[in-house]
Amino acid sequence: MFKKILIANRGEIACRVIKTARRMGVSTVAVYSEADADARHVRLADEAVLIGPAAARDSYLVAERILQVARQTGAEAIHPGYGFLSENEYFAEACAQAGITFIGPPASAIRAMGLKSASKALMEKAGVPLTPGYHGADQDPVLLAQEAQRIGYPVLIKASAGGGGKGMRRVDTAADFEAALGSCKREARNAFGDDDVLIEKYILKPRHIEFQVFGDTQGNCVYLFERDCSVQRRHQKVLEEAPAPGMTPERRAAMGRAAVEAAKAVAYVGAGTVEFIVNQDGSFYFMEMNTRLQVEHPVTEMVTGLDLVEWQLRIASGEPLPLTQSQLQIDGHAIEARIYAEDPDKGFLPSTGRLVRLVPPAQSDHVRVDTGVEQGDEITPHYDPMIAKLIVHGADRRQALSRMRQALSQYRIAGVANNVDFLTRLVTVPSFADADLDTGLIEREQALLFPEEPPVPAEVWQLVTLAEMLREQRLADACARSAADRHSPWRALDGWRLNGRSTRTLTWRVGELAQAMTVEVSGAGYQLGMDGAQVPAQGTIDADDELHARLGERRIKATVVAVGDRRQLFFAGRSWALRLADRLPVGHTGDEVESGLRAPMPGKVIALVAPVGVPVDKGMPLLVLEAMKMEHTITAPRQGVVKAFRYAPGDQVPDGAELLDFEGAP
Ligand code: ADP
Repeated sequence: MFKKILIANRGEIACRVIKTARRMGVSTVAVYSEADADARHVRLADEAVLIGPAAARDSYLVAERILQVARQTGAEAIHPGYGFLSENEYFAEACAQAGITFIGPPASAIRAMGLKSASKALMEKAGVPLTPGYHGADQDPVLLAQEAQRIGYPVLIKASAGGGGKGMRRVDTAADFEAALGSCKREARNAFGDDDVLIEKYILKPRHIEFQVFGDTQGNCVYLFERDCSVQRRHQKVLEEAPAPGMTPERRAAMGRAAVEAAKAVAYVGAGTVEFIVNQDGSFYFMEMNTRLQVEHPVTEMVTGLDLVEWQLRIASGEPLPLTQSQLQIDGHAIEARIYAEDPDKGFLPSTGRLVRLVPPAQSDHVRVDTGVEQGDEITPHYDPMIAKLIVHGADRRQALSRMRQALSQYRIAGVANNVDFLTRLVTVPSFADADLDTGLIEREQALLFPEEPPVPAEVWQLVTLAEMLREQRLADACARSAADRHSPWRALDGWRLNGRSTRTLTWRVGELAQAMTVEVSGAGYQLGMDGAQVPAQGTIDADDELHARLGERRIKATVVAVGDRRQLFFAGRSWALRLADRLPVGHTGDEVESGLRAPMPGKVIALVAPVGVPVDKGMPLLVLEAMKMEHTITAPRQGVVKAFRYAPGDQVPDGAELLDFEGAP
């Protein structure tokens, strides 16, 4: 076994690899960018070396620099994690040349599977079933359009070099083909530096089922069963589970055999995943092979009881596979949810900022949290906005699901927008609970997932107001204690509390809603008034923001985190983002830019879509921005005309930058 390995990655996966290495007595070297100087993976590793500025192409993607660090620190092997250099054949080759073990497959296997089109040709030869489509080298747009016609709409255009759900466009009619091809190629060029595409028949109501495979240097290969990753948003996985609901032993064996065939066809070594797209009747087609550890590998670990990183290290150091196919077993059911800093109500726009509060549910044999951040850390625009992966295990799917619901309800995140409430709704929708799965589930369940905001319960306004009063009181008490001066104004504030007759009003906002609350000091607590009704309230709030409240006869526990004028209230299994409105600047300045026309985050302008001076309808695309490796389209907030664009394609824009001058129709 290696004595020391380098981890060429960051975030949760770097932390995940360090954990196993430590357990196996292998020391770890982390690498980090300037933006990650205080990151969790740097804190956890035995040593850490700075490799460059924040931008991944200047740090985590610089192969030579990483190899240099490996040599300097005496690391014998490099674990690439996922993303970054993990599927880069040149990096795998460079490691081999430098005499450093690449913990992954040989460069030849990465190359063979690297391009979706080439891998399809190879799989066709190996007899693995393929989705009907075109994966030829000729990229003439006219030919591609003809091929789409031949395959029959709807079709899916995929970047051949694509991954992570990027560079894919569904096209329903021939009229939309050209525009979709252009935008797909543009995204592919930006994200992968290669704009070749392939076209596939768009399978309706498909499931995504993938098989975990492992090969060793002795030529053995096994499958560690399947994961169902059908619950996706814009072709990106949101929930993953193992085993796949409804899978029969016969079909599992057939798909497992096909997966092993696929791996053997490229002389695979290490951990890999063979992805299939599956029709509702169970027929399956090869989609692609990912030649690395997957984000969702923990669900496989939970049901097999194995540590896949340990397997990776053993195989890379030359050991044979630890178990044979017949020794492998599935125990129970596991589900993973990806917790992201993103705003589901704003089209899942990534959110950046400090994690003012980050308290995951308690971990146990059934609940696992893999994360690269801790409370106080920052989600920056430089990398993927993942906060954590929450993985639960149960004796069966039902038990796993209820554990997932409970764990989500215990998550406390404040400071950045996040998808915890969305995930809570998602694991509760009947179709997911009944395992009626396909990749369109999220889209189909819009009504349940994005309900018309129900009225905010009265308790929300009351609890946040009570928390505010208790906090002020605590501050006043602390100041009074420390103020030697008897005439200190803090004592006066303390006095206000004793003077029960004065009434204050606090105005809160949730989205567009505003609510005024009156507060009167009364006995040991307060009288809270809203819309004419009064409720007596008292309680305590501790330094961890835990509120123990008494509202009338009810005792309620909640958490209220304060950030500036914002309050995040966690209560009854969900959270509310409130704003203390009376501290907001009042009135409209008239020349304010509509927020929709500002850059939602730092990014790069990639296309000016609307013609200047020509009337456009509400919702028409005006400009395309690339941020966090995704395209965001800025659309017309209402009918009007673009007077001028303030940036040109290729320009970097800061967060909040005014992108264009727009004049609404009178
Ligand atoms: P990536 O490498 O970007 O993850 P994949 O080829 O693995 O891309 O596809 C990602 C997802 O897109 C799949 O899980 C599936 O939901 C959807 N998808 C892919 N191919 C098809 C298809 N032919 N028809 C319908 N959906 C598809």
